[in-house]
Amino acid sequence: MTDLPRHDWPRFEPGWVWLCGAGPGDPGLLTLHALNALRQADVVVYDALVHDGILDWAPGAEQVFAGKRGGKPSPKQRDISLRLIELARAGRRVLRLKGGDPFVFGRGGEEAQTLVQHGIPIRVIPGITAGIAGLAYAGIPVTHRDVNQSVTFVTGHDATGNQTASLDWDGIARGSQVIVIYMGMKHLDGIASKLIAAGRDPAEPVAITTTATLDAQRTIETTLGTCAADARDADLEPPAIICVGHAVAMRQVLEWRAMAGGDPPRNLDPLGRGRPAQSA
Ligand code: SAH
Repeated sequence: MTDLPRHDWPRFEPGWVWLCGAGPGDPGLLTLHALNALRQADVVVYDALVHDGILDWAPGAEQVFAGKRGGKPSPKQRDISLRLIELARAGRRVLRLKGGDPFVFGRGGEEAQTLVQHGIPIRVIPGITAGIAGLAYAGIPVTHRDVNQSVTFVTGHDATGNQTASLDWDGIARGSQVIVIYMGMKHLDGIASKLIAAGRDPAEPVAITTTATLDAQRTIETTLGTCAADARDADLEPPAIICVGHAVAMRQVLEWRAMAGGDPPRNLDPLGRGRPAQSA
């Protein structure tokens, strides 16, 4: 790697699979390890959520799409894993590129396990996950000392596509001040009802950010009681990340992308705490 800062960058050996996060969209959110991998890969097996601009960084590599396209069902997980094994056994340097972080609701754990079970050497390159960076691009810090001491990341549906039955929504509602929901749009009605039934205030703020970190990023601010209807009315395009909790109010002062475009902050003190303490 001549164009990366001097460092002992790992060499991509033939027959290896590197399981790598591509971040939520904006190519600038790739890690340097991801860039190092893109520069050396022979073949990149990528998902639907990987932005095209990122594949441009691997001009020499064969590109294999492994996501859902044009309403067709996504390839079976087993088929993807077998393809990776086949490519590795053929002596290729196989870069398995996944949106966000491969080990966060991305089935990266399953793929890695299958590869190891078949004796394929792997390297894991974590990525920046949508539930943190997507919200940051919307001006929402997932933790803030005045708001929350916990955050819970949940998926809105399980492997069968049903609302996540195994989740203790009561426990989450009671125990987590901020809840970040991946893949939550399909069952948003049900999820919001469960959180309200467990005692969350229907007026609690909710933000839904779509296509986060890219130019098409869009955020609606709503409430737990009305979010499902508001989301339908807003005609939101996937992918969408949902944040439930008072962290959403911080957008009023931290919506930095709008401010970069010239908009003033809406409210310098959205939590009504007065001037911030000067102490650490
Ligand atoms: N491994 C990924 C998550 C894969 S699950 C990660 O760490 O980010 C897919 C879900 O991630 C989507 O349904 C959506 O909830 C969320 N997501 C991924 N990219 C997103 C983006 N750019 N904007 C909003 N949500 C995104």
